[in-house]
Amino acid sequence: MAQQEDVFKKIVSHCKEYGFVFPSSDIYDGLGAVYDYGQNGVELKNNIKQYWWQSMVLLHDNIVGIDAAIFMHPTTWKASGHVDAFNDPLIDNRDSKKRYRADVLIEEQMTKYEDKIQKEIEKAQKRFGDKFDEAQFRATNARVLENQQKYDNLHQRYQEVMNAPGGIDLEGMKQIILDEEIVCPISGTRNWTDVRQFNLMFKTEMGSTADGASTIYLRPETAQGIFVNYLNVQKTGRMKLPFGIAQIGKAFRNEIVARQFIFRMREFEQMEMQFFIQPGTELDWFAKWKETRMKWHQNLGFGAENYRFHDHDKLAHYANAATDIEFHMPFGFKEVEGIHSRTNFDLSQHAKYSGKKIEYFDPETNESYTPYVIETSIGVDRMFLSIMCHSYEEQQLPDGQTRTVLHLPAALAPVKLAVFPLTKKDGMPEKAQEIINDLRFHFNCKYEEKDQIGKRYRRMDAIGCPYCVTVDQQTLEDNTVTLRDRDTMEQKRVAISDLRSIIEDKVSITSLLKKLL
Ligand code: ATP
Repeated sequence: MAQQEDVFKKIVSHCKEYGFVFPSSDIYDGLGAVYDYGQNGVELKNNIKQYWWQSMVLLHDNIVGIDAAIFMHPTTWKASGHVDAFNDPLIDNRDSKKRYRADVLIEEQMTKYEDKIQKEIEKAQKRFGDKFDEAQFRATNARVLENQQKYDNLHQRYQEVMNAPGGIDLEGMKQIILDEEIVCPISGTRNWTDVRQFNLMFKTEMGSTADGASTIYLRPETAQGIFVNYLNVQKTGRMKLPFGIAQIGKAFRNEIVARQFIFRMREFEQMEMQFFIQPGTELDWFAKWKETRMKWHQNLGFGAENYRFHDHDKLAHYANAATDIEFHMPFGFKEVEGIHSRTNFDLSQHAKYSGKKIEYFDPETNESYTPYVIETSIGVDRMFLSIMCHSYEEQQLPDGQTRTVLHLPAALAPVKLAVFPLTKKDGMPEKAQEIINDLRFHFNCKYEEKDQIGKRYRRMDAIGCPYCVTVDQQTLEDNTVTLRDRDTMEQKRVAISDLRSIIEDKVSITSLLKKLL
């Protein structure tokens, strides 16, 4: 575990050192849980967004995009329930003065019991080999039974406090934390305050005078911009159910605990798609979207074992199914995307609060109804982090040296091709520039002439550039160059005129998209 934390720290500093992610307002020592993307980070981020956008809008005839404003009419957030209920239960430890989400402390305790059970199972599996019968072991092993009992008790109590009739039972939550003897990881004590609710929306004022100004919110999710535009898009696009609206944009949450780099930020970016469907078909569509979205993730080639679904136990009152896609980060399996079956809750609420009729006339059944919605919601920054974590490697080389390399999927890499003149003379720089001038229209190229070739390769490895080309004496004679592959480090001699056809297909988003069909 400690080793994993070390790796994570190294990834964070690598992100800064190589222009991927900087703390916001760095010269003023940063701003809590706010980050800026640097020259390489922005390219990677844009490629992630493009991969998502095109997989939605290009590959589906019935999905269109929008770009709604961040500011929305304040009633939006009343209708959506965010003003009253977008709260996290928080608790402070009086000794360390650290603040925690009470629900997270309890969920982590449940995970501890699960981990203990899993360890026993793995031990037994090793001992018994092929003869191992997991079901029987679970039903009879004393330590497993004991931990299962603890898990079940906690799970049931947690369900009760989360679903208490008058809203979350805050006193009940604190009691669970005390009874389970959960300690603060920093101070190691159980000196906890009461649990309080904290609304995560940022408020500001719109209008010139304090009197006339109205309180508005920075949107905590992009989804509401889609719901309030449902009618506009459906009518002007003459959309027929089922159809989807996709959007990428900033969202803001005043997160209580923000300690995991870009995993939990106060300003972040979401890619959301609301899929409008006929009531009664939602569980089928939910299953379809689960499959489609998992395929999108696994298409990056990081290995199916690094993903899992985590179905929600506690459903929001309006949802009838919800799952997360979790990715294996250095700090455990963590949510990257949520898929939710939201019934007709949002559209009905907006109809009620706006007084507008928000329905769909179904020409096939001759009926009007409020569509149901399946939502897929993914954080760009969490996706970015998962890609960084999986791609980062400190590799031992056969000659005893080490290199730090980012095995980014070529289609997402910030720079696709680096071109080096072997030396700064004999017309080699000019030849290298000529190659770039020809290829820059097709993919992102970078020119580098400083330092020895070996060092230049290392710099490109560190930003995940999949291909490097070196112009040398022979190039001037026969128009061939050496082409080096980032992952294998193999070099081969190729004609300059073949470079585009060799590289373009491998580095284009289209190649990723084709694998989805
Ligand atoms: P969590 O439980 O981790 O707080 P959530 O369930 O509240 O997340 P959703 O409201 O479902 O998250 O948001 C959809 C997606 O937006 C998440 O899967 C995540 O990728 C991203 N996201 C949410 N909050 C943040 C944040 N503070 N920083 C970065 N990304 C976020």
